[in-house]
Amino acid sequence: MSHTVVERAGSLALDIDAERLLRRIRELGRIGADPVGGGITRTGFSAADREARAYLMDEARAAGLFPAVDAAGNIVVRRRPTDRPTADGPVVMMGSHLDTVVDGGRLDGAYGVLAALEVLQTVVESGARLRRDCVAVAFANEEGALFPQPFWGSMAVAGRIENLPREPRDHQGRPLREALRLAGGDLDALGSACWPKGSVSAYLELHVEQGPVLERGGSRIGVVDAITGRIVLTLEIRGRAGHSGTTPMEGRRDALCAAARVVLAAEHIAGRRDLCRVATVGRLDPYPNTPNTIAGAVRTTVDLRDTDVWRMADAEAALRAMLDDIAAATGTEIEVVAETRSDPVSTDARLREAIALSADELALPYEELPSGAGHDAQFVAGLAPIGMIFVPSIGGVSHVPQEDTAAEDLVAGARVLLRTVLRTTEREEQL
Ligand SMILES: [Zn+2]
Repeated sequence: MSHTVVERAGSLALDIDAERLLRRIRELGRIGADPVGGGITRTGFSAADREARAYLMDEARAAGLFPAVDAAGNIVVRRRPTDRPTADGPVVMMGSHLDTVVDGGRLDGAYGVLAALEVLQTVVESGARLRRDCVAVAFANEEGALFPQPFWGSMAVAGRIENLPREPRDHQGRPLREALRLAGGDLDALGSACWPKGSVSAYLELHVEQGPVLERGGSRIGVVDAITGRIVLTLEIRGRAGHSGTTPMEGRRDALCAAARVVLAAEHIAGRRDLCRVATVGRLDPYPNTPNTIAGAVRTTVDLRDTDVWRMADAEAALRAMLDDIAAATGTEIEVVAETRSDPVSTDARLREAIALSADELALPYEELPSGAGHDAQFVAGLAPIGMIFVPSIGGVSHVPQEDTAAEDLVAGARVLLRTVLRTTEREEQL
């Protein structure tokens, strides 16, 4: 098998074009950017998102690659022109998302997509003959910031269409159907976006950490061991509105006081009691929300996360018991009106090993860590083994304009992705 050895040695000597990657990150980072604060608003299926999508496709075409938009609005970049998921046999898929939250950063998602493009272009330009082809994907509407269906594109790819609403709308009631059509998708053909089992041999996602662990530990690369699961309960707290001056304290049914206790209950569950890794109340909508009226109702959310499904269940049970106590103590009714949940997902042990070996070869210190944020990878995990690579986030911040990563770390992450892809495609041929 000397042929394999030569090919292996040759392809491992490949390197990405760091300047090209950094240029694209800069250029894409101008789309949807606030000229004053610098934050990026490129919510999924918005005009700015369409502009970013066009940018990616133009860059791919200029590189001699073939971008295609599937029915869910995902952009799939291949080395050959086709839009059938199975056309190239089982592939190694790389990707992330182009959409952002409101006033977010330029790297969350976009970095992983541009690095995937860079790796694909590097492999194609080198002429390396891999047994497994690779494709780069930009998943549509990962954040769900405008149309509240996060992970829209990756759920479609993974065949989770029954979990998606039939006629999704944004917060103003505008239909996704039209926005999806403008992006090149087709709501009536969503099923065609699904990749069948066996069509993806591995999925790799490179992403900024969005937390402080790598920076604090001095690691340049994170090997993600699991993506945390998440339970979000939407609560409706109903009390009794009244005049803030004339209603005695005794006998009030103040929905906002109950909500305040819910905020602290969530903190208590994850903090003091350590029932799950993190718990957060990030949203409170009191009604009528005026200074001189006791809140008659509050809508709020509790977000619980952990990498262990049993701990999540325990935390949820504890929270629900505390909600009953809070309702009784404040004379309010607390109802769970909506719940969304995603299970924790483990990454593939062989892909973790391939990422670690690649980091080692490049003399990059790495560590294993869980992902506290959700990622497209957790849905693709239903279809294929997944691996995730993190690079450090400066100051640990993300979803804010200040989100950033050192240029040398952005380049290092893409180098690790390239080597991992080469390892993965070459290892597959020996299986
Ligand atoms: Zn992301």
